Amino acid sequence: MDISEVLKNKIESNETILTEFESKELLQEIGISVPSQRLITSIDETISAAEEIGFPVVLKLIAEDIVHKSDTGAVKLNIKDKDELEAAYKDLMNIPSQKEKKISVQKMADEPITELIIGMTTDAQFGPALMFGIGGILVELLEDVSFRIAPVTEYDCREMIREIKGFPILDGYRGKPKADINAIVDTLMKISDLVIKYEEINELDLNPVFIYEKGLICVDARIILKNK
Ligand code: ADP
Ligand code: MG
Repeated sequence: MDISEVLKNKIESNETILTEFESKELLQEIGISVPSQRLITSIDETISAAEEIGFPVVLKLIAEDIVHKSDTGAVKLNIKDKDELEAAYKDLMNIPSQKEKKISVQKMADEPITELIIGMTTDAQFGPALMFGIGGILVELLEDVSFRIAPVTEYDCREMIREIKGFPILDGYRGKPKADINAIVDTLMKISDLVIKYEEINELDLNPVFIYEKGLICVDARIILKNK
């Protein structure tokens, strides 16, 4: 995948939003792991993709006018066999959309220690600002996130991670395993490099990232480009 080519094509066709599938392909290209995924359009392809990837899988409806997928029922988790797959496929195809519908078949990721959010927004004055937080209600209700202007150093990343209130959740709170902090630092650095290199990226949202004792995996992502 040639990232500059992908971004250029999008901008030239007056599109600013990369789909989840495209966004995760781009992340994979810069070395951030994502569940193996296939983009398909028929039930036969869905079955062969699921068999190739291996059950359990997740099906998601990918269409340009569907942004918050779970709100519209466009995410089917933990599909364990062919029967469940066929039922999920039917449900997804019944969701109304004005745009072309495709299905993403992806590996169901293992239960994480917690979900994380890693993002970037462009500040009018300071340029790209990286954001880090723990996913779910901690982010939504408590606004427990930290920010740094890119480019960041490894030291900045470690501070960003330590300064959120929910840090104990990553640090082995109540006998839970400790999260792989180095993997988070590495991901923040990669996102920083990406947004510095490609100024055409306006916004980036990895939500959620599943964090483990060893490694992490980004299960949903969205990249938004600047207008031409
Ligand atoms: P939305 O567009 O609503 O944000 P997501 O793609 O984030 O949709 O999916 C909703 C939730 O489903 C995620 O927050 C995550 O908890 C779970 N999920 C999504 N994809 C996977 C996956 N591949 N493996 C395991 N869980 C997943
Ligand atoms: Mg999401």
